[in-house]
Amino acid sequence: MYRERGGGGSRSEMGPVDRKRINDALDKHLERSSPSTSSEESDVSGSDGDDTSWITWFCNLRGNEFFCEVDNDYIRDDFNLCGLSGQVPYYDYALDLILDVESSHGDMFTEEQNELVESAAEMLYGLIHVRYVLTSKGMAAMLEKYKNAEFGRCPRVYCCGQPCLPVGQSDIARQSTVKIYCPKCEDIYSPRSRFQNNIDGAYFGTTFSHLFLMTYGHLKPQKVSQSYVPRVFGFKIHKP
Ligand SMILES: [Zn+2]
Repeated sequence: MYRERGGGGSRSEMGPVDRKRINDALDKHLERSSPSTSSEESDVSGSDGDDTSWITWFCNLRGNEFFCEVDNDYIRDDFNLCGLSGQVPYYDYALDLILDVESSHGDMFTEEQNELVESAAEMLYGLIHVRYVLTSKGMAAMLEKYKNAEFGRCPRVYCCGQPCLPVGQSDIARQSTVKIYCPKCEDIYSPRSRFQNNIDGAYFGTTFSHLFLMTYGHLKPQKVSQSYVPRVFGFKIHKP
């Protein structure tokens, strides 16, 4: 199996969220699947040299920085995927794609169908991800990202660059995009990157950031008491 994966992805234009993501995924998919036909048998790759797994590739796409890499073992355990087959179209194919299992559908699927499978794989990964980050392994992976402020910092001046956590406003897919939660001012903000602004909030969920701060209680910062006071010529504005 041959995988060609450039760095960072190439999402260059805005448009309807899903369409753009699908197109981008399709481009990558075609890039990955067209050259070379070294092995056609069903196998799991990911460990031959510079071969990159689908998960690593996906997490490195621009805009996907908030996702951690879900353990293959976690995904292979059916118990963890309970209920997802009814939510994701092309479920089996999408799962094969995520796990880099070469399936034979590529030959019989039209380009359109391949797009749908790619799109389904992204959704399935998101729905697995929101469960995974609530496990101890998933939380540890997110901890590393938090320590590196990979989820961005609070834009509020009095929060002094406090690192944030990703949060969803809903646990239902396609309701709202991901936001960042500041543990200092306890408010949520839009991510700075317009690419991140396209990511579904349900792939991070309403629970994760708060369970994370309960789990790693020592990371929860003191709440800030300082707040901005508007003044005119140095005087506080009288409230009518
Ligand atoms: Zn803040």
